[in-house]
Amino acid sequence: MLARFILVAFFLILTACSRQAPVEATGQAGVPAPAAGVAGAAITETASPAAPVDAAAASPVVVYSSRQEYLIKPLFDRFTEETGIEVQLQTGEDGPLIARLEAEGEGTFADVLYTVDAGNLWAAANKGLLQPLHSKVLEANIPAHLRDPQDLWSGLSVRARTIVYSTERVDPAELSTYEGLADPKWKGKLCLRTSKKVYNMSLVATMIDRLGVEATEAAVRGWVDNLATRVFSSDNLLIQAIAAGQCDVGIVNTYYLGQEQQQNSAIPVKLFWANQQESGVHVNISGAGITAHSHNVAGATRLLEWLSTDEPQHMFSELNLEYPANPAIEPVDLVKSWGEFKQDTLNVETAGRLQTEAVMLMDRADYR
Ligand code: FE
Repeated sequence: MLARFILVAFFLILTACSRQAPVEATGQAGVPAPAAGVAGAAITETASPAAPVDAAAASPVVVYSSRQEYLIKPLFDRFTEETGIEVQLQTGEDGPLIARLEAEGEGTFADVLYTVDAGNLWAAANKGLLQPLHSKVLEANIPAHLRDPQDLWSGLSVRARTIVYSTERVDPAELSTYEGLADPKWKGKLCLRTSKKVYNMSLVATMIDRLGVEATEAAVRGWVDNLATRVFSSDNLLIQAIAAGQCDVGIVNTYYLGQEQQQNSAIPVKLFWANQQESGVHVNISGAGITAHSHNVAGATRLLEWLSTDEPQHMFSELNLEYPANPAIEPVDLVKSWGEFKQDTLNVETAGRLQTEAVMLMDRADYR
């Protein structure tokens, strides 16, 4: 009798546990799960980024970001206004953020990792910290060369790194390619930012892919021979040096010239679109992936998909003078005033894959 009672009690406990399990699985810790009917209805609508996702709205999306808060907070605020989904933002430097995600493992609260430069996203993906996006919306809105071939991250805005020159001392007809800046005619006239900046690592990584190690090393050695002065810590200082007459040519991300033009519209420095007869201008991204241990994949997916649509894509251009990653969206007038250019369609993942080789090459060539 007692044995039978224990058996029945055990059975009742088991049934209670198994009934509770699906409820816990659909809700995030501490957040009540939506009723089965609501969750079921939401699933059929997730194909469209504008559709409400009730399960996602219940819990906030936690974003670890290396982008400065003032550049992305307005985007997240708009997202919350439109969808009711709260975004919790934690900012930091790329390296420490990725290390934190790694250390937190399955216990992380982060749903999204948002960084600048494909090299950083590649590093996070390589450590197993991201999960596949499986998003038809991102595939439709963002060109393939700005997305990870393994589908672990996607570009959301584009930054072009090209040549800048003094309009007072340089005839743009003398300019052609990045490697062309190694020509002795630029001796004592070239300014560069430090090789420690990931932007230059990525540029040199793509040159290795395109030209091979030997030709890239010859080009980088030529740059170093042509330097007018020590390398700069920022693209802004480099542009100001050209304006001040310290050097004539350099390589920068276009939005830094935009910043300088906003301060002084008559600044005697212009962009030159590099490598237009060849592969095109080197582009990189700001972009994001969903963390491997996210508790809110639906909300995270919704956020990334929303960021690829019209209004937020235009906002990237307004906030940081970047290019929308979605080619259907136009940038702001100042960015448009720089004219159209052909961009390199080599997958930006190359920047990560060849980054170590690029760093070693720049070191051998004495580019500091
Ligand atoms: Fe920057």
